[in-house]
Amino acid sequence: MAAEIIDGKAVAAEVRAQVARDVQAWVQAGNPQPGLATVLVGEDPASAVYIAGKRRACTEVGIADLHRHLPAHSTQQQVAELISELAADPGVSGILLQLPVPGQMQGNELTALIPPLKDVDGLTPMSAGLLAQGAPGLRPCTPAGVIALLDHAGVQIEGAEAVVVGRSDLVGKPVAALLLARNATVTVAHSRTRDLAAVCARADILIAAVGVPRLLGAQHVKPGATVIDVGINRTDAGLVGDVDFEAAAAVAGRITPVPGGVGPMTIAMLLRNTLSAAQLQAR
Ligand code: NAD
Repeated sequence: MAAEIIDGKAVAAEVRAQVARDVQAWVQAGNPQPGLATVLVGEDPASAVYIAGKRRACTEVGIADLHRHLPAHSTQQQVAELISELAADPGVSGILLQLPVPGQMQGNELTALIPPLKDVDGLTPMSAGLLAQGAPGLRPCTPAGVIALLDHAGVQIEGAEAVVVGRSDLVGKPVAALLLARNATVTVAHSRTRDLAAVCARADILIAAVGVPRLLGAQHVKPGATVIDVGINRTDAGLVGDVDFEAAAAVAGRITPVPGGVGPMTIAMLLRNTLSAAQLQAR
């Protein structure tokens, strides 16, 4: 194996430790403690696990855990009222509505009620628009984590050929926008792309955000390229990414593993966003 492994777990731990120090300095300077309101509607077990991880992470770095839980039979109106209440509460720095919400609700419409300065997930239409225009704003956590990993690994983004495979609102599009904002030459590939291998093989920076186990192999990787695998796929062989790790690592210069690559960065960037939200609101 030739490639250097980018250790997302270690980078995430560093980010979390830095956020803890920054929160402490912020509070010691006389500012109120930042607080994150995670909102869970219903009893979805996977969502409950994700929320528990986010709440624990907040407490660890000194961010107040302002969790709210509504029953599964709640109405759209009740969730909307809760979000409006949190939006108006100066003690709440960030609001995160855990998706998916129960079937009777429109998750997109509820997310859109979160004001941009409290949108720590960075996924509302307003935040997406600010990102698309290159205006300041809170950025989506997983895409921000991808950029943080590239920076930590010392990868030159400016001028690089970057190929993003996947065009979701959650990962592909915002990663592409963030790379563009850093002056990469960005190509977005997707399920209708012709000759995916040829497109990917142009990339100095290859980002996989597809959701297909081990879709990208050695033939997709330019020798020496940096490969960031966002995919998290549960298979009989365990958790695997969108990249065939062994094959790609033989060609790449740097590569993230799954698990232990991008995954741990998401919560770390959520914590960073929550502190940033508190600071933006204090201006
Ligand atoms: P999505 O299903 O919304 O989007 C997938 C994208 O991949 C689509 O744009 C589609 O055009 C493209 N695609 C599908 N098949 C393709 C193919 N054969 N060739 C080329 N492109 C193809 O998925 P998503 O929400 O963007 O998530 C992508 C992956 O990232 C998933 O595995 C998901 O679990 C993972 N993910 C990880 C994190 C994290 O690390 N914290 C966060 C979000 C998503």
